[in-house]
Amino acid sequence: MQIEFLGATREVTGSKFLITTKLGKKILLDCGMFQGKGMETDSANRNLGFDPKQIDHLILSHAHIDHSGLIPYMYRQGFRGSIICTAATRSLCTYMLLDSAGIQELDAKYYNRKAAFGHVRATTPLYDTTHAQKSMELFITTEFNRRFYIDNEISVKFFATGHLLGAGCAVLDIVENGKTIRVGYTGDIGRQKSSILSTPKAFPQCDYIITESTYGNRIHEPEENIKEQLCDIVYHTCVEKRGKLIIPSFAVGRTQDILYILNELYNEQKLPPVKIFVDSPLAVNATTVFSQYTEYLNDNVKNTMLYDDDPFNFNSVSYIKDAVQSKKINKYRKPCVIISASGMLEAGRVKHHVANNIMKPSTTILMVGYCSPTSLGSRIQAAGLKKISIFGSEIAVRAEIRSMEAFSGHGDYREMIKYLKCQNPNLLKNIFLVHGEYNVQEFYRQQLQSSGFRNIIIPQKDEKYILNDTEALKIK
Ligand SMILES: [Zn+2]
Repeated sequence: MQIEFLGATREVTGSKFLITTKLGKKILLDCGMFQGKGMETDSANRNLGFDPKQIDHLILSHAHIDHSGLIPYMYRQGFRGSIICTAATRSLCTYMLLDSAGIQELDAKYYNRKAAFGHVRATTPLYDTTHAQKSMELFITTEFNRRFYIDNEISVKFFATGHLLGAGCAVLDIVENGKTIRVGYTGDIGRQKSSILSTPKAFPQCDYIITESTYGNRIHEPEENIKEQLCDIVYHTCVEKRGKLIIPSFAVGRTQDILYILNELYNEQKLPPVKIFVDSPLAVNATTVFSQYTEYLNDNVKNTMLYDDDPFNFNSVSYIKDAVQSKKINKYRKPCVIISASGMLEAGRVKHHVANNIMKPSTTILMVGYCSPTSLGSRIQAAGLKKISIFGSEIAVRAEIRSMEAFSGHGDYREMIKYLKCQNPNLLKNIFLVHGEYNVQEFYRQQLQSSGFRNIIIPQKDEKYILNDTEALKIK
């Protein structure tokens, strides 16, 4: 068989890897959107590097847009194969792909308004809500730890990675010439200890592994006192400074982590009596999915549910879907907490909240997730920052900018290596590192080698390898 690396190569977005078996079956692992580089990303998203009509199956590791976001685009281009994932991944995709379609439509409108003045070229949305809705009909769901037979030669089994509700490492068994070749695609790997998700689960010995490397050069701060830290920041901002605490957060995953911890603080009567606004329609919908799939959540949550049947909601929380209500938060003069997307501050309502409050010393902006180096979320964290450009205006920075890495949905390199230790390194023919910046991947490769792993490849975009029960052979 062959594998082609079509995205998330030496970068963190656009996960897309195409396996072509000897019998000509085409299996795509994830179909993520490239994000964060404006119109440059737009053309990368439109050039998939394959004909969607020829794809037989798409195996989806999890629902995040950098892994699933081009599914409606594939549908638009004629893809009618099956999309195989866990039930929770499907449920999250229902909301996430529709939300993404809404963003595509709005972006196209914005560009076309500019195009009317000759500033940029006119464009069409990558896809619209109809494509997103229709693509949902292609989903077939399975559960963790159950082998799903695609045909006589190909089967797949998902093992929870604790990265997001429903997220799984896909282990494919592909029979060629009477021999089974096992390929493990980890997708994104969660923390060893998460507030609401379980520890990443071991998966059976593979021949080849494709694995992420987002935090391949980092050690996260210990998460033991995460609750106390968050409580201190709420107290400092809302009680001592009487200001607004703005938390830019991915709507799906991180927001539910934070809500769960705030809910615990509320139950323990440690939370100051301030309003908590969850200002993101997607976050509101995703939270209902988390509440539906509590069997996927860890024992912390299950224990909480013995006395609190709604672990993501409490009296002081206001869920905001409506844009008019969102704008009203601006006029809310009392101290409050605003949790809103997007996590990297690239777009979404949170960008407005930051633009409206970053000049006030009473504000605290708390960064809780990965930010790609060029994003506003990353720029805002530069030491000694005095001014920042948001929506084309220079704004003074007087707010406190804090960060808490412990909320990360990705394990650090020690956690990822601990997870990969479920494999015997000597039986692995190759490890392919994807989903990481190149300098980070180089560091991670050295760490993996020190732990006994070998034959580690950092593929470049569009590189193609033959996997044939021996060390991978590069053919392009
Ligand atoms: Zn992810």
